[in-house]
Amino acid sequence: LLDPNYLRDRIRTVPDWPQAGVQFRDITPLLQDPKTLRVLVEQFVFRYMDQDIDLIAGIDARGFIIGAILAHELNVGFVPIRKKGKLPYTTISEEYELEYGSATVEMHSDACKPGDRVLLIDDLIATGGTMMAGKRLLERLGAVVVEGCAIVDLPELGGSALLREGGLKLFTLVDFA
Ligand code: IMP
Repeated sequence: LLDPNYLRDRIRTVPDWPQAGVQFRDITPLLQDPKTLRVLVEQFVFRYMDQDIDLIAGIDARGFIIGAILAHELNVGFVPIRKKGKLPYTTISEEYELEYGSATVEMHSDACKPGDRVLLIDDLIATGGTMMAGKRLLERLGAVVVEGCAIVDLPELGGSALLREGGLKLFTLVDFA
């Protein structure tokens, strides 16, 4: 059986990036190695293969990578939730607060339809603002957000607790204190 630290040990921590004081958890080594990529994808496939999911919504940009692979594996479609100004067609948008300032995520207005059961995916949950904004977008279009998932949770930043309080079920693979 898999060592519980198999994935954790292969995530790179980059100190002081993108700014001083931040320990950036870099998941690119997991993608680069064929064995870890397979293990990573299998964790999500195992959890979701027998769940009733119509669509996967991945968050810009690392949520696209793992989300698209998972969608293919589960034989469902994939839709992108993007940073402001990137999507060409009619969009809906949600703004959320950052430590300094704000950010906006957008989705195509026809990305899902009422009643669709959607799995939301990103690489990492920090303050939870991004995933919460993604959930709001999907719910504005009438979708049911089945669960939010990510490779990494940073529980000390409180985002995952906040998301759960807001009624979102969560599944993450690795915690970093
Ligand atoms: P939140 O909105 O504060 O939860 O931040 C999560 C978003 O920021 C996700 O889309 C992540 O990709 C990105 N992010 C924040 N911190 C990190 C990190 O340490 N490593 C990788 N991505 C991060």
